[in-house]
Amino acid sequence: MSFQDQIIEIVGAEAFIEEPERLIVYECDALTLEKFIPHAVVLPANREEVIAVVRCCHTHGVPIVPRGAGTSLSGSVLAMEGAIVLCLSRLQSIVHIDPDNQRALVEAGCVNAWITRAAQPHGLYYAPDPSSQYACTIGGNIATNSGGPHTLKHGVTTNHVLGLECILPSGEAIWLGADMDSGDDTPGLDLRGVLIGSEGMFGVVTRALVRLLPEPETRETLLVVFDSVDQASCSVGDIIREGIVPGAIEMMDALITQAVEEAYHFGFPLDAGAILIVELDGHQEQVLSESEQTQSICRANGAREVRRAETTQQRAELWKSRKRAFGAIGRISPNYLTQDGVVPRSRLPDIMNYISEISKACHLRICNVFHAGDGNIHPLILFDERDPDQVQRAVQAGEDILMRCLELGGSVSGEHGIGVEKIPLMNKQFTPEDLQAMKDLRHVFDPQEKCNPHKMFPSARRCADFVARKQASV
Ligand SMILES: Cc1cc2nc3c(=O)[nH]c(=O)nc-3n(C[C@H](O)[C@H](O)[C@H](O)COP(=O)(O)OP(=O)(O)OC[C@H]3O[C@@H](n4cnc5c(N)ncnc54)[C@H](O)[C@@H]3O)c2cc1C
Repeated sequence: MSFQDQIIEIVGAEAFIEEPERLIVYECDALTLEKFIPHAVVLPANREEVIAVVRCCHTHGVPIVPRGAGTSLSGSVLAMEGAIVLCLSRLQSIVHIDPDNQRALVEAGCVNAWITRAAQPHGLYYAPDPSSQYACTIGGNIATNSGGPHTLKHGVTTNHVLGLECILPSGEAIWLGADMDSGDDTPGLDLRGVLIGSEGMFGVVTRALVRLLPEPETRETLLVVFDSVDQASCSVGDIIREGIVPGAIEMMDALITQAVEEAYHFGFPLDAGAILIVELDGHQEQVLSESEQTQSICRANGAREVRRAETTQQRAELWKSRKRAFGAIGRISPNYLTQDGVVPRSRLPDIMNYISEISKACHLRICNVFHAGDGNIHPLILFDERDPDQVQRAVQAGEDILMRCLELGGSVSGEHGIGVEKIPLMNKQFTPEDLQAMKDLRHVFDPQEKCNPHKMFPSARRCADFVARKQASV
């Protein structure tokens, strides 16, 4: 029986996609500059089918690209090297919520926001909240170690995944981390931690045991309006220096604030130079005192207005507008490139000034909406992909900004991962020895590099492919 017939026998003909017009859906993720049409997509319905598909691929030497919702912003789901896409989106159950022990067992294709929705009746929630949380899956969050607005205080995905099941490229199923039933920590090496952030290169995650947090007694959400990005940037460092750790500190500059306001009509001031959304959570007394301190720090830095979300509904509307910010860009530009870098919080004013200079130098508008409290910047570089010169300038501007992040003591990625996009920057941040150590670790899980090939690590072959495709598209 051919490879294709065997896969169809496992998942059924409906769950095997090979028609060119249907494959286009899977040609890219949210980094639309990088495209590659896979030769097939497989959508298993349960973990047994996942295991059988992986075993079949192993037997036939066919590489696999695990995929969740395809919201990655780094081209991490491109199916190169004749790989099939193994899409986990049908494994979407919340297997159980354990309110007494504040845990949930979920399947990999479960959408992030569904966990909080299911936990809320028990007074619990799942903390990591990427802005894409209404679409992205836990499997994708694990593979990219996702952050989000509320990871400043509570930590990123790795701090909230207690254990997980991974199907190795050989087809062997392993459970890593805390015991699945008791939730108890297990002794030995933290292989769970090793797998989180491995961008689908170590195996296919099918289930995860995640931590749930109790809803805080109170939350205070402030919208602080500044005349300049500089004033807002300085306030971020000052708030944390004061010993306050808010649940979230998010920044939006003038251009994105206008675009968001025009799209969603929340009531953001159209003449703001920058706004901060600061959310404090915890016990009532502490939150009120920290709110007063935060407001006076912001005013000392020149804040001209502070508004409080008065109701739960207002708070929800504010976050909804913030989290849909990328979607508002369609009103002001045909295309945009989202960058993701990190600087020490104290260097936020420097990087924001640099971004403004780069924008002028490359004659492209750049707007900023980002997790300021983490020093995790997201410049959105606006361009028109019908103009090859603009494409090149946008890509170059992105690289320049990330190089500047490195010079300032930061990193080329905060949360979106490396994928194909940032491969050329890996050897700027890491030594050859660092990279070899990472590859050696990968080979423990995937000795033949069959799981998500040609991602993250520089290799002569991939670079050649990349350059050829870039030249062909220009
Ligand atoms: C509008 C928008 C806002 C965003 N905001 C944030 C944010 O605030 N914070 C943040 O961190 N990210 C953000 N992202 C990026 C993206 O949503 C995250 O990286 C997310 O975790 C990807 O999940 P996904 O299910 O879409 O994964 P995919 O895009 O399908 O895959 C991403 C990576 O995970 C791997 N993968 C997926 N499922 C599995 C699995 N079951 N087993 C093994 N590997 C797997 C893939 O191979 C790939 O390497 C945003 C993206 C968009 C479009």
